[in-house]
Amino acid sequence: QLQKPKPIVIANWKLNGGIDLICTSVASFIGKHFDAQIAICPPYIYMRDMLTFLQHSEISIGSQNVSKFESGAYTGETSAQMLKQAGCKLCLIGHSERRAMFGESNLSCQIKVQTALNHGLLPVLCIGENLEERDANITKAVIFRQLSEGLHNINLEGKELCIAYEPVWAIGTGLSATPAMAQEIHQFIRRELAVLLGKETAGRIRLLYGGSVNKTNARELLAQADIDGLLVGGASLDPGHFLAICQLA
Ligand code: PGA
Repeated sequence: QLQKPKPIVIANWKLNGGIDLICTSVASFIGKHFDAQIAICPPYIYMRDMLTFLQHSEISIGSQNVSKFESGAYTGETSAQMLKQAGCKLCLIGHSERRAMFGESNLSCQIKVQTALNHGLLPVLCIGENLEERDANITKAVIFRQLSEGLHNINLEGKELCIAYEPVWAIGTGLSATPAMAQEIHQFIRRELAVLLGKETAGRIRLLYGGSVNKTNARELLAQADIDGLLVGGASLDPGHFLAICQLA
């Protein structure tokens, strides 16, 4: 067993937050040391403020999405280059809410992963089955497809990538996957990544679990052999709660 990579904990604020949450988060996180890499993904409009307030902290800022386009007549889009220039370190790609409600496909994810890598952003490709797929026993087939299409022709030499496994039925429901269930899928993801990208590359890709993570289940999830980090939604909207999760990692 290789040594585990440095854990990573990411907050996904989704379409939540405001000046109050920014202020309380900054107050909670500034001056703190973490063993894990910590990032917060606020709505775009708050990224600049967060970057300024947290510039001397250990917290990085990420985006919840990125355009697949570089520039031009694409109303409402924000490019990887803009995010990078603003000081953003990472971006979520293909979150299940974007797949379900905004037409994100494995192909658009693949383009976004490549674009993020081209501009020096760390892509966090989100994958996971919904309840119907789990009940139909096709979880692994769904995940394999999300990985093989989402990472098709991606060259990771000298580059970093994260995969976030988020079973859709566990997101925002309070029904987290058990650590054993999550580990089973993470191990499967690691094996498939080794087939797709080679063993060495697969070994250094950090695999995050997301879906109703909280300070009670975080420790046991992180203790699993193939869980290298957490993607936290609801619990990240309470800075004290999110801080507690970060301190467990
Ligand atoms: P949750 O969301 O922690 O509220 O389940 C996780 C996510 O959607 O990234």
